[in-house]
Amino acid sequence: MLRDSFGRQITDLRLSVTDRCNFKCVYCKPQLEGRWVQRSKLLTFEELERVARILVSMGIEKIRITGGEPLVRQNIEQLIARIARIEGIRDLCMTTNGYVLAEKGDALRRAGLRRVTISLDTLNAEKFTAITGKDYFARVLEGIDAAVALGFQPVKVNAVIMRDVNDDELIAFARFAREKNVVFRFIEFMPLDADHQWSKNRVVTLDEMVEKISSYEKLVPLPAHSISETARRFQFEDGVGEIGIIAPVSRPFCGHCSRIRMTADGKIRTCLFSILEHDVRALLRGGGSDDAIKGFIEQVVDQKEERHHINDPDFVQPERDMSLIGG
Ligand code: SAM
Ligand code: SF4
Repeated sequence: MLRDSFGRQITDLRLSVTDRCNFKCVYCKPQLEGRWVQRSKLLTFEELERVARILVSMGIEKIRITGGEPLVRQNIEQLIARIARIEGIRDLCMTTNGYVLAEKGDALRRAGLRRVTISLDTLNAEKFTAITGKDYFARVLEGIDAAVALGFQPVKVNAVIMRDVNDDELIAFARFAREKNVVFRFIEFMPLDADHQWSKNRVVTLDEMVEKISSYEKLVPLPAHSISETARRFQFEDGVGEIGIIAPVSRPFCGHCSRIRMTADGKIRTCLFSILEHDVRALLRGGGSDDAIKGFIEQVVDQKEERHHINDPDFVQPERDMSLIGG
């Protein structure tokens, strides 16, 4: 069992499979082509599977595949099939921008993926292009419909809520969740954007979101699935539809954090906001045994930060943005 020095049990891995992305979301902005990590430095499927297997043997139960955009990694369904076969995994899911989900969804489902979360920050086609830098609104909607039709359960849709960008759409999102039978999750804007445009007054807090959505239909809090759940869950009072709000800025949940992350180039990060990264790739490629890798991971987890410092005056934004860390 993996435990950090504050007694938190680590059960949840965010596994980034690429730093590349075909979108350029304003709150994230992946690096321009040419500034990406060299291909040879990205972990191979064999290496990703090996690390996943080792981590599962140490107590990881849930793996979220992410990126960059995980579906731009070639033959990603082959990696999903390898990871889905690892004994001990209770939950295997993916966060995607949805661009190729309509085409790839079936292969992913057959490979063993059970849940998907799709990012969609607006229901307006023009605004979608302004936020993502791409004219792909219709394709992402198709991706969401395909995910529901294919039986991914539940289908979650993530929106990063930014003041004066999409906070006027909260009620429209809530309606969408109810009509489409998806769980909408609203995320507070975090200081992980490549452009460093984040500021506190651009964050729409959980309280503000609840107040706005409640003016449409009253929200009733739901019990958490687990103590380390990131989203505060709510149901509409009439029982139709569910939303979740992820509030790392206004309601930090570090005290119950169960997560570590691995970047596509094989660096472990013990917090989204870590300044330090720990190189597993060197061990993987340097002939390290499984036991040596386990020992290394234990040491790394022991150094997991107590909490993030977004709200402190001396907060330092990590060098890598969300697309490079693996959201
Ligand atoms: N490309 C995939 C996608 O967009 O869903 C997966 C990777 S993306 C980095 C993972 C999640 O991080 C997305 O839901 C995205 O909205 C969120 N994200 C990125 N930058 C963020 C920021 N600055 N604040 C809050 N959430 C952010
Ligand atoms: Fe790409 Fe996802 Fe970042 Fe948007 S949020 S730029 S889709 S990695």
